[in-house]
Amino acid sequence: MLHYGIKQNIEELKSKIPEEVKLLAVSKTKPLEELEEAYIAGIRDFGENKVQELVKKSENFHDDVKWHFIGQLQSNKVKYLVDKVYLIHSLGSISLLNEIEKFFGKANKIANTLIQINIGREESKSGILEEDLYEFIEAVKKCNYVSVSGIMVIIPIGDEESNRKYFKRTKEIFDDLKEKEYKNITMKILSMGMTHDFMTAIEEGSNLVRIGTGIFGERNYIIGGASNE
Ligand SMILES: *Cc1c(COP(=O)(O)O)cnc(C)c1O
Repeated sequence: MLHYGIKQNIEELKSKIPEEVKLLAVSKTKPLEELEEAYIAGIRDFGENKVQELVKKSENFHDDVKWHFIGQLQSNKVKYLVDKVYLIHSLGSISLLNEIEKFFGKANKIANTLIQINIGREESKSGILEEDLYEFIEAVKKCNYVSVSGIMVIIPIGDEESNRKYFKRTKEIFDDLKEKEYKNITMKILSMGMTHDFMTAIEEGSNLVRIGTGIFGERNYIIGGASNE
C-alpha cells in the first residue's frame, strides 16, 4: 500500500534541492513500511528523535542506511546509540558531551556529532548559546572519542524574514569556526531547514535539510507516542 505519495514527495523535493545538499528524511513516529517507500525512492539517511525508536528501526531495516539522531538526548541513553548512530545532530551541552565521550570511549568508538546551537535563545530549546560556544569548544578539544563535523539549529517559529535572519547568523558562526583550527572540530555540515523553511535555509547556506512532514505527511502522536518537539 502506498502512503501519502511518499515517492512523489521525495521526487519533488529532489527536483528543488541542489545535489550538494543532503536530504535527511525525518522518519520519527513512522512505521518501517513507510520508511521502505522512502528507501525505494533512494533515501539512505533517516532521522529519529527517540533513542529506542532509532535502535529498533536500525535493527530491522536495510544495513546501508545511515541513522541520524536529531532529538533531545538524555545522558542515560547515550550508550544505546554506540554502533547504531551515524551522526548525532543534537550535541547541546557539556554534560552530554562528557557522557558521549565516556560511553563511546568505553566502546573505543568515535562519536560523530554536530553542535546544536540555540540560535533563537529559546528557553524551551536545548543547545549552546552563542556566548558559550568557545567554552564548549574547549571541552570538545579535550575529548578523545568525539568528533564534531558541523552545526545544527532549530530556529524559532516565525515568518520568512525571521527565518532568514537566524539562518544567516548560523552561517556566519559556521564560517567563522571553519576558518579556525580546533582539535576534533571540522566544519563541514550545516544542518538547518525543515519542511516549511528548507528553501530559505538552502539559500542561506544549509547543506543538510531535515524533512519529515514534507515526505511522510503529518505525524500522528497518538500512535507515535509523546513528542518532545
Ligand atoms: C521533527 C523534526 C524535523 C522535521 O520537521 P518537519 O517540519 O516535519 O519537516 C526536523 N528537525 C528536527 C530536530 C525535528 O525534531
